[in-house]
Amino acid sequence: MKNNIELISIGTELLSGQTLNTHAQTLGLVLTKIGLNLSRDTTIPDGIEIIQSAVREAFERTDIVVVSGGLGSTSDDITRDALAELFDRKIVISPEALEVMQKRYATRGREVSPAAERQAQILEGAETLVNSVGAAPGQRFFPKLGKTLFILPGPPKEFLAVLNDHIVPWLQKTFPHAEPLEERILITQGIGECDIVTRLNEACFKPLELSIGFYPGAGKVEIRISAEKEKLANLDVVESTLRALLQEWLIR
Ligand code: AMP
Ligand code: MG
Repeated sequence: MKNNIELISIGTELLSGQTLNTHAQTLGLVLTKIGLNLSRDTTIPDGIEIIQSAVREAFERTDIVVVSGGLGSTSDDITRDALAELFDRKIVISPEALEVMQKRYATRGREVSPAAERQAQILEGAETLVNSVGAAPGQRFFPKLGKTLFILPGPPKEFLAVLNDHIVPWLQKTFPHAEPLEERILITQGIGECDIVTRLNEACFKPLELSIGFYPGAGKVEIRISAEKEKLANLDVVESTLRALLQEWLIR
């Protein structure tokens, strides 16, 4: 199984500029920490066909797809319907999720209304991933051999809770040998990105097949070098070479 994971962020408000899509950052940070790779984030509006084509295309590229948003109780929340049709599954109530909701509502002296109950619906055959901070549960669904679809609630706190409580432990079990990349960070001040490149080219700098990112901002350039553990020797060489070449501008 490849350790590339794709995210599909669903929500018309994410594209109209009304809501900042924070899920890509949240998932990217969590995956990087456990040595896995968020290979793509696709943001799409709430629409049956566009959800179906985005999920189908993501599974052509990778084995693990995370879908988020559109699981609420209102008529614009159609993620479940789109996925149920795509995978030819019924939509059923998750007894586990319903019980969690009933308990939560009971503490406020209320009963779960039919509209609220919709949030406990999952795809037939999916496993319920209990949401410890909200109503709609996460779901784990295996569309076919070797393919895993995670369906997560949209609210950022709930997205993070289901991610940490269920997805991270599953990923760590599935990829026991995944290790985070080693990273070194240098920061320069007083030299622009283009001048850095010129200086490195003039010195015939070789990145030794490592990944080097340049992140300019506010008069500074942050340089991040990352490598797998087995390329640690290359990392040391590249870091010390860069430090020597950019010495007079380094502030870190
Ligand atoms: P939904 O599950 O689509 O009903 O979304 C519930 C709430 O979560 C709404 O306020 C959404 O705007 C918010 N939300 C959904 N997806 C995201 C996202 N990718 N980033 C930030 N907020 C989101
Ligand atoms: Mg929505």
